[in-house]
Amino acid sequence: MQIHAYAAHQAKDKLAPWDYQKPDLKPNDVEVKISHCGICHSDIHLIDDDWKMSRFPLVPGHEVVGTVTQTGSAVTLLKSGDRVGIGWQSGSCGTCEWCLSGQDNMCSKAQPTCVGRHGGFADSIITSERFAFKLPDNLESENAAPLLCAGVTVFSPYRLYQVKEGMKVAVLGIGGLGHLAVQFANKLGFETTAISGSPDKATEAKDLGAHHFLLNSDPAELKSKANSFDFILTTVSASLDWMPYMNMLRPNGKLCFVGATGGNITVPTGLLLGRQKSICGSNIGGVKVMNEMLEFAAKHQVVAKTEVMPMNQVNDAIEKVRHNQARYRMVLETGDK
Ligand SMILES: [Zn+2]
Ligand SMILES: [Zn+2]
Repeated sequence: MQIHAYAAHQAKDKLAPWDYQKPDLKPNDVEVKISHCGICHSDIHLIDDDWKMSRFPLVPGHEVVGTVTQTGSAVTLLKSGDRVGIGWQSGSCGTCEWCLSGQDNMCSKAQPTCVGRHGGFADSIITSERFAFKLPDNLESENAAPLLCAGVTVFSPYRLYQVKEGMKVAVLGIGGLGHLAVQFANKLGFETTAISGSPDKATEAKDLGAHHFLLNSDPAELKSKANSFDFILTTVSASLDWMPYMNMLRPNGKLCFVGATGGNITVPTGLLLGRQKSICGSNIGGVKVMNEMLEFAAKHQVVAKTEVMPMNQVNDAIEKVRHNQARYRMVLETGDK
Protein backbone atom coordinates (compact mmCIF):
# COMPACT_ATOMS: atom_id res chain seq x y z
CA MET A 1 0.00 0.00 0.00
CA GLN A 2 1.15 3.48 -0.88
CA ILE A 3 0.54 6.73 0.99
CA HIS A 4 -0.10 9.67 -1.33
CA ALA A 5 1.67 12.76 0.00
CA TYR A 6 3.14 16.12 -0.95
CA ALA A 7 6.88 16.39 -0.42
CA ALA A 8 9.77 18.80 -0.76
CA HIS A 9 12.77 17.03 -2.31
CA GLN A 10 15.31 19.62 -1.27
CA ALA A 11 15.44 22.76 0.85
CA LYS A 12 13.14 25.58 -0.26
CA ASP A 13 11.51 23.36 -2.90
CA LYS A 14 7.89 23.63 -3.94
CA LEU A 15 5.98 20.57 -2.79
CA ALA A 16 5.18 17.91 -5.37
CA PRO A 17 2.96 14.83 -5.24
CA TRP A 18 4.99 11.93 -3.88
CA ASP A 19 3.99 8.40 -2.90
CA TYR A 20 5.76 6.31 -0.31
CA GLN A 21 5.37 2.78 0.95
CA LYS A 22 3.10 2.60 3.96
CA PRO A 23 5.19 1.44 6.92
CA ASP A 24 4.06 -1.65 8.84
CA LEU A 25 2.08 -0.83 11.96
CA LYS A 26 4.02 -1.43 15.18
CA PRO A 27 1.95 -2.89 18.05
CA ASN A 28 1.13 0.56 19.49
CA ASP A 29 0.64 2.36 16.17
CA VAL A 30 -2.54 3.57 14.54
CA GLU A 31 -3.17 4.45 10.93
CA VAL A 32 -5.15 7.64 10.43
CA LYS A 33 -6.96 8.67 7.25
CA ILE A 34 -6.44 12.41 7.05
CA SER A 35 -9.28 14.88 6.48
CA HIS A 36 -7.52 18.15 7.39
CA CYS A 37 -4.03 19.43 8.08
CA GLY A 38 -3.09 22.93 9.19
CA ILE A 39 0.00 24.75 7.96
CA CYS A 40 2.28 25.99 10.74
CA HIS A 41 5.22 28.36 10.38
CA SER A 42 7.40 25.47 11.54
CA ASP A 43 6.46 23.60 8.36
CA ILE A 44 7.97 26.46 6.37
CA HIS A 45 11.12 26.38 8.54
CA LEU A 46 11.37 22.63 7.86
CA ILE A 47 10.87 23.04 4.10
CA ASP A 48 13.56 25.73 4.05
CA ASP A 49 15.81 23.64 6.36
CA ASP A 50 16.26 26.72 8.58
CA TRP A 51 16.93 24.53 11.60
CA LYS A 52 19.38 22.18 9.79
CA MET A 53 17.38 19.16 10.95
CA SER A 54 15.22 18.47 7.89
CA ARG A 55 15.47 15.20 6.01
CA PHE A 56 14.35 15.03 2.40
CA PRO A 57 12.03 13.99 0.84
CA LEU A 58 10.15 15.92 3.48
CA VAL A 59 6.40 15.62 3.97
CA PRO A 60 5.41 18.53 6.22
CA GLY A 61 2.21 18.81 8.24
CA HIS A 62 1.82 18.50 12.00
CA GLU A 63 -1.68 19.83 12.65
CA VAL A 64 -3.39 16.68 11.48
CA VAL A 65 -7.03 15.69 11.87
CA GLY A 66 -8.40 12.39 10.63
CA THR A 67 -10.06 9.10 11.44
CA VAL A 68 -8.41 5.96 12.76
CA THR A 69 -8.65 3.24 10.10
CA GLN A 70 -6.34 0.58 11.53
CA THR A 71 -4.90 -0.24 14.93
CA GLY A 72 -1.78 -2.18 15.95
CA SER A 73 -2.10 -5.36 18.01
CA ALA A 74 -1.45 -3.63 21.37
CA VAL A 75 -3.51 -0.48 20.90
CA THR A 76 -5.92 0.13 23.79
CA LEU A 77 -6.58 3.89 23.74
CA LEU A 78 -8.20 4.14 20.30
CA LYS A 79 -10.38 2.15 17.93
CA SER A 80 -11.21 2.33 14.24
CA GLY A 81 -13.54 5.22 13.49
CA ASP A 82 -12.23 7.51 16.26
CA ARG A 83 -11.58 11.07 15.13
CA VAL A 84 -8.13 12.12 16.29
CA GLY A 85 -5.61 14.94 16.05
CA ILE A 86 -1.82 14.71 15.77
CA GLY A 87 0.57 17.56 16.56
CA TRP A 88 4.30 18.32 16.39
CA GLN A 89 5.31 15.26 18.40
CA SER A 90 4.85 11.64 17.33
CA GLY A 91 6.98 9.70 19.74
CA SER A 92 8.95 9.62 22.99
CA CYS A 93 10.59 6.95 25.15
CA GLY A 94 7.52 6.53 27.36
CA THR A 95 9.57 5.57 30.42
CA CYS A 96 11.66 8.58 31.54
CA GLU A 97 10.62 10.97 34.33
CA TRP A 98 9.26 13.45 31.76
CA CYS A 99 7.16 10.92 29.88
CA LEU A 100 5.83 9.42 33.11
CA SER A 101 4.72 12.83 34.36
CA GLY A 102 2.93 13.70 31.10
CA GLN A 103 5.68 16.11 29.94
CA ASP A 104 6.61 13.92 26.98
CA ASN A 105 7.60 17.06 25.10
CA MET A 106 10.67 17.24 27.38
CA CYS A 107 11.76 13.65 26.66
CA SER A 108 15.29 13.50 25.25
CA LYS A 109 14.01 10.94 22.72
CA ALA A 110 11.05 13.07 21.59
CA GLN A 111 10.34 12.47 17.89
CA PRO A 112 8.88 15.22 15.74
CA THR A 113 6.09 14.21 13.35
CA CYS A 114 7.86 15.55 10.24
CA VAL A 115 11.54 14.86 10.92
CA GLY A 116 12.71 11.38 9.96
CA ARG A 117 9.08 10.43 9.42
CA HIS A 118 6.40 11.75 7.13
CA GLY A 119 3.79 14.29 8.14
CA GLY A 120 0.22 15.20 7.41
CA PHE A 121 0.26 16.72 3.92
CA ALA A 122 -0.92 13.31 2.77
CA ASP A 123 -3.95 11.07 2.66
CA SER A 124 -2.83 8.96 5.65
CA ILE A 125 -0.34 8.93 8.48
CA ILE A 126 0.91 6.34 10.95
CA THR A 127 1.71 7.32 14.50
CA SER A 128 1.84 5.99 18.03
CA GLU A 129 -1.55 5.86 19.77
CA ARG A 130 -0.07 8.00 22.58
CA PHE A 131 0.28 10.92 20.19
CA ALA A 132 -3.06 10.62 18.41
CA PHE A 133 -5.48 12.60 20.55
CA LYS A 134 -9.17 11.85 20.52
CA LEU A 135 -11.05 15.01 19.55
CA PRO A 136 -14.16 16.15 21.41
CA ASP A 137 -17.25 15.89 19.18
CA ASN A 138 -18.13 19.57 19.23
CA LEU A 139 -14.85 20.76 17.70
CA GLU A 140 -15.10 21.07 13.92
CA SER A 141 -12.15 19.37 12.20
CA GLU A 142 -11.02 22.42 10.25
CA ASN A 143 -11.01 24.62 13.37
CA ALA A 144 -9.49 21.93 15.55
CA ALA A 145 -6.50 21.23 13.29
CA PRO A 146 -4.52 24.36 14.34
CA LEU A 147 -5.15 23.56 18.01
CA LEU A 148 -2.82 20.56 17.67
CA CYS A 149 0.26 22.76 17.36
CA ALA A 150 -0.64 26.46 17.69
CA GLY A 151 -3.31 25.80 20.33
CA VAL A 152 -1.22 23.70 22.67
CA THR A 153 1.79 25.97 22.15
CA VAL A 154 -0.08 28.93 23.66
CA PHE A 155 -2.23 27.07 26.22
CA SER A 156 0.59 25.07 27.77
CA PRO A 157 2.62 28.04 29.13
CA TYR A 158 -0.39 29.33 31.07
CA ARG A 159 -0.45 25.99 32.89
CA LEU A 160 3.31 25.43 33.06
CA TYR A 161 3.92 28.84 34.70
CA GLN A 162 0.77 28.69 36.81
CA VAL A 163 -0.92 31.79 35.50
CA LYS A 164 -4.00 32.19 37.68
CA GLU A 165 -7.47 33.60 37.18
CA GLY A 166 -7.52 37.36 37.68
CA MET A 167 -3.87 37.85 36.70
CA LYS A 168 -2.95 40.50 34.18
CA VAL A 169 -1.78 38.85 30.98
CA ALA A 170 -0.57 40.39 27.73
CA VAL A 171 -0.28 38.57 24.42
CA LEU A 172 2.24 40.07 22.03
CA GLY A 173 1.38 39.45 18.37
CA ILE A 174 -2.13 38.77 17.07
CA GLY A 175 -1.52 36.14 14.39
CA GLY A 176 -1.81 32.37 14.15
CA LEU A 177 -0.57 31.81 17.71
CA GLY A 178 -1.74 35.06 19.26
CA HIS A 179 -5.37 34.85 18.16
CA LEU A 180 -5.65 31.56 20.07
CA ALA A 181 -3.61 32.84 23.03
CA VAL A 182 -6.04 35.75 23.49
CA GLN A 183 -9.08 33.46 23.37
CA PHE A 184 -7.61 31.05 25.92
CA ALA A 185 -6.51 33.93 28.18
CA ASN A 186 -10.00 35.39 28.22
CA LYS A 187 -11.67 32.05 28.91
CA LEU A 188 -9.14 31.22 31.64
CA GLY A 189 -10.26 34.39 33.43
CA PHE A 190 -7.15 36.52 32.90
CA GLU A 191 -7.39 40.28 32.46
CA THR A 192 -6.23 40.14 28.86
CA THR A 193 -4.34 42.73 26.83
CA ALA A 194 -3.49 42.24 23.16
CA ILE A 195 -0.32 43.95 21.94
CA SER A 196 0.19 44.48 18.23
CA GLY A 197 1.92 46.84 15.83
CA SER A 198 -1.20 47.10 13.64
CA PRO A 199 -3.94 49.46 14.85
CA ASP A 200 -6.37 47.59 12.59
CA LYS A 201 -6.02 44.52 14.84
CA ALA A 202 -7.67 46.36 17.76
CA THR A 203 -11.25 45.48 16.89
CA GLU A 204 -10.42 41.87 16.03
CA ALA A 205 -8.42 41.47 19.24
CA LYS A 206 -11.38 42.68 21.29
CA ASP A 207 -13.70 40.32 19.39
CA LEU A 208 -11.31 37.48 20.32
CA GLY A 209 -11.65 38.41 23.98
CA ALA A 210 -8.96 41.02 24.71
CA HIS A 211 -10.10 43.49 27.37
CA HIS A 212 -7.46 46.01 26.34
CA PHE A 213 -5.36 46.76 23.27
CA LEU A 214 -1.86 48.20 23.20
CA LEU A 215 -0.05 49.51 20.13
CA ASN A 216 3.61 48.57 20.38
CA SER A 217 4.70 50.81 17.53
CA ASP A 218 4.25 53.69 19.98
CA PRO A 219 7.08 53.66 22.58
CA ALA A 220 5.17 56.13 24.78
CA GLU A 221 2.25 53.74 24.99
CA LEU A 222 4.53 50.90 26.09
CA LYS A 223 6.20 53.14 28.65
CA SER A 224 2.84 54.14 30.10
CA LYS A 225 2.19 50.48 30.89
CA ALA A 226 5.27 49.96 33.07
CA ASN A 227 4.62 47.62 35.99
CA SER A 228 1.32 46.36 34.52
CA PHE A 229 1.50 42.64 33.69
CA ASP A 230 2.05 39.38 35.53
CA PHE A 231 2.71 37.45 32.34
CA ILE A 232 3.58 38.51 28.82
CA LEU A 233 3.33 35.78 26.19
CA THR A 234 5.31 36.65 23.10
CA THR A 235 4.14 34.94 19.93
CA VAL A 236 6.03 37.07 17.39
CA SER A 237 8.92 35.82 15.27
CA ALA A 238 10.67 39.21 15.11
CA SER A 239 13.59 40.00 17.37
CA LEU A 240 12.62 43.14 19.31
CA ASP A 241 14.08 45.38 21.96
CA TRP A 242 12.79 43.44 24.95
CA MET A 243 13.51 46.05 27.62
CA PRO A 244 10.13 47.83 27.30
CA TYR A 245 8.47 44.44 27.86
CA MET A 246 10.63 43.65 30.88
CA ASN A 247 9.63 47.04 32.26
CA MET A 248 5.96 46.28 31.73
CA LEU A 249 6.18 43.28 34.08
CA ARG A 250 5.04 43.56 37.68
CA PRO A 251 7.13 41.99 40.47
CA ASN A 252 7.40 38.21 39.94
CA GLY A 253 6.27 38.78 36.34
CA LYS A 254 7.36 36.53 33.48
CA LEU A 255 8.22 37.25 29.87
CA CYS A 256 7.50 33.97 28.07
CA PHE A 257 8.57 33.13 24.54
CA VAL A 258 6.64 30.77 22.30
CA GLY A 259 7.52 32.46 19.00
CA ALA A 260 10.93 31.48 17.66
CA THR A 261 12.69 34.82 17.19
CA GLY A 262 16.14 33.38 16.59
CA GLY A 263 17.60 36.42 18.39
CA ASN A 264 19.29 37.02 21.73
CA ILE A 265 17.94 38.80 24.74
CA THR A 266 20.06 40.96 27.03
CA VAL A 267 18.66 42.47 30.20
CA PRO A 268 20.31 43.84 33.35
CA THR A 269 20.53 41.07 35.95
CA GLY A 270 19.49 43.63 38.56
CA LEU A 271 16.06 43.68 36.99
CA LEU A 272 15.69 39.92 37.46
CA LEU A 273 16.94 40.11 41.02
CA GLY A 274 15.36 43.32 42.29
CA ARG A 275 11.82 42.78 41.03
CA GLN A 276 12.09 38.98 40.74
CA LYS A 277 11.17 39.05 37.08
CA SER A 278 11.97 36.11 34.85
CA ILE A 279 12.38 35.24 31.20
CA CYS A 280 11.15 31.85 30.14
CA GLY A 281 9.95 29.79 27.21
CA SER A 282 7.56 27.00 26.43
CA ASN A 283 7.78 24.27 23.83
CA ILE A 284 4.52 22.76 22.47
CA GLY A 285 3.05 20.71 25.34
CA GLY A 286 2.99 17.18 26.69
CA VAL A 287 0.27 14.55 26.42
CA LYS A 288 -1.43 15.68 29.61
CA VAL A 289 -1.76 19.34 28.69
CA MET A 290 -2.75 18.48 25.11
CA ASN A 291 -5.78 16.55 26.36
CA GLU A 292 -6.62 19.31 28.83
CA MET A 293 -6.35 21.96 26.10
CA LEU A 294 -8.64 20.04 23.73
CA GLU A 295 -11.29 19.58 26.42
CA PHE A 296 -11.04 23.22 27.44
CA ALA A 297 -11.27 24.43 23.83
CA ALA A 298 -14.34 22.27 23.23
CA LYS A 299 -16.05 23.41 26.43
CA HIS A 300 -15.36 27.12 25.87
CA GLN A 301 -15.47 27.03 22.08
CA VAL A 302 -11.94 28.29 21.57
CA VAL A 303 -11.53 27.72 17.85
CA ALA A 304 -8.94 28.72 15.32
CA LYS A 305 -10.07 31.10 12.63
CA THR A 306 -9.15 29.29 9.46
CA GLU A 307 -9.02 29.56 5.72
CA VAL A 308 -9.49 26.17 4.09
CA MET A 309 -7.96 25.13 0.76
CA PRO A 310 -7.87 21.77 -1.02
CA MET A 311 -4.68 19.87 -0.35
CA ASN A 312 -3.76 19.84 -4.03
CA GLN A 313 -3.35 23.63 -3.74
CA VAL A 314 -0.77 23.19 -0.99
CA ASN A 315 1.82 25.43 -2.67
CA ASP A 316 -0.62 28.35 -2.93
CA ALA A 317 -1.57 27.88 0.71
CA ILE A 318 2.10 27.83 1.74
CA GLU A 319 2.68 31.10 -0.14
CA LYS A 320 -0.09 32.70 1.91
CA VAL A 321 1.60 31.60 5.13
CA ARG A 322 5.00 32.79 3.87
CA HIS A 323 3.53 36.23 3.19
CA ASN A 324 1.56 36.42 6.43
CA GLN A 325 -1.71 36.54 4.53
CA ALA A 326 -3.43 33.81 6.53
CA ARG A 327 -6.25 35.02 8.79
CA TYR A 328 -5.29 33.34 10.96
CA ARG A 329 -4.37 29.75 10.00
CA MET A 330 -4.38 27.97 6.66
CA VAL A 331 -5.86 24.49 6.72
CA LEU A 332 -5.66 21.96 3.89
CA GLU A 333 -8.47 19.49 3.33
CA THR A 334 -8.18 16.20 1.50
CA GLY A 335 -11.88 15.80 0.74
CA ASP A 336 -12.00 12.60 2.85
CA LYS A 337 -14.25 12.72 5.85
ZN1 LIG B 1 3.71 23.91 14.53
ZN1 LIG C 1 10.83 9.93 27.74
